[in-house]
Amino acid sequence: MTTALTGGTVLASLDPPAVVTTDVAIEDGVVTAVGPAPEGATRIDCTGCLVVPGNVNAHMHLYSVLARGMPYRLDPPQDFVQILQRVWWRLDRALDTDSIRASALAGGMDALLTGTTTLVDHHASPEAIDGSLDVIAQALADIGLRSVLCYEVTDRDGPERAAAGVEENRRFLKAGWPLARGMVGAHASFTLSDETLGACAEVARDSGVGVHIHVAEDAADQRDAEARFGSRVVPRLVRAGVLNGSGLLAHCVHVDKQEIDAIREAGATVAHNPRSNMNNSVGRAPVAALGDGVALGTDGIGADMFAESKTAYWCLREESLAAPGSWPLARLTRGAAFAGRAFGQPTLGRIEPGAPADLAVLEYPDITPLEDANVAGHWLFGMGSHHVRDVMVAGEMVVADRLLTRVDQDEVAAAAREQAEGLWRRIDELPAHPFGPGRGA
Ligand SMILES: [Zn+2]
Repeated sequence: MTTALTGGTVLASLDPPAVVTTDVAIEDGVVTAVGPAPEGATRIDCTGCLVVPGNVNAHMHLYSVLARGMPYRLDPPQDFVQILQRVWWRLDRALDTDSIRASALAGGMDALLTGTTTLVDHHASPEAIDGSLDVIAQALADIGLRSVLCYEVTDRDGPERAAAGVEENRRFLKAGWPLARGMVGAHASFTLSDETLGACAEVARDSGVGVHIHVAEDAADQRDAEARFGSRVVPRLVRAGVLNGSGLLAHCVHVDKQEIDAIREAGATVAHNPRSNMNNSVGRAPVAALGDGVALGTDGIGADMFAESKTAYWCLREESLAAPGSWPLARLTRGAAFAGRAFGQPTLGRIEPGAPADLAVLEYPDITPLEDANVAGHWLFGMGSHHVRDVMVAGEMVVADRLLTRVDQDEVAAAAREQAEGLWRRIDELPAHPFGPGRGA
């Protein structure tokens, strides 16, 4: 059966920008034509609307979704490591299966309603490791969201949990979810021994996937690597066999020229998270030097890639007027290509024949002309997630008229609130995590 989105304007590609006023035909989960709707197709009227590729969030933490508005009674964190010890490493220890599922459903709902069709997630739940990625995959399958999942391996909670994390990645990589794929997750150099990092590299190699790891998010990661291993972080990853073209390196704020050259030479993808970097006061990533490999992620601050891409742009423009408007669009395209490779669908993120039908229909008033040459201007100064009307993932409408089609949104929200209350109570009983840089195994 063919579905056709009719009468709209199609933003077929963000990089290079391509605008065409025509219909889009979809069959068996893929775009079959960008042109007049075929006879007999089920038509969805998109008159006056803009049809855009679904966004990809290249670095997400669904497990953090229920932290929104969480009370906090410890002394305020003075640096990034204390933010981890006092907030996130307490929250992850308080997660159980029910709160993991509620987080994934609520975070996935937020993603879809803002036009994000794929999440590349990094999950941690040290008291509920085994099977946790299936819980997330099932929750996202229930709402129809595409994902690339991994479990965050770390030594900070002891050798048994480190081994369990490695095994959870290995187990999930063999699972056959239609809309979920796996990577090997690793926390960061400063919470990983050589042995554990090596185990991550081995599972990744055996499974033919990359490692998704935080890299030099804060200068403390570099200081730890130099003190414990006599090396900076990126050379350490090279030695461990973690740096390659399938790798996903989150942040890369404190990388030097040689490390940047190594990342570029390896062809790894860098997930740049500008709003998170600002919020954690960790500094600015050298995104211009890091070049074409940079994609965009939210690091758990929602999943709205319209908002993240605009912030990424303005952050650059604050430094220099030389930053072109095409830059954030190219970064979003890189994220889509990265996720597309995981699914064997390199055209993910484009609306063209053969591409997966992951897209959003925006009620975007055409108050000024739109053409190839000014797409960036519309993206940065006009379009936003508040325009999202419908969202399609793999050919299925999973948001229609601003509502999820598979589940009751009020029920998802009510379940999340209930789980949040229990989670917050459990977190409140936990002290700051004792682990820190220089204390690794
Ligand atoms: Zn992160």
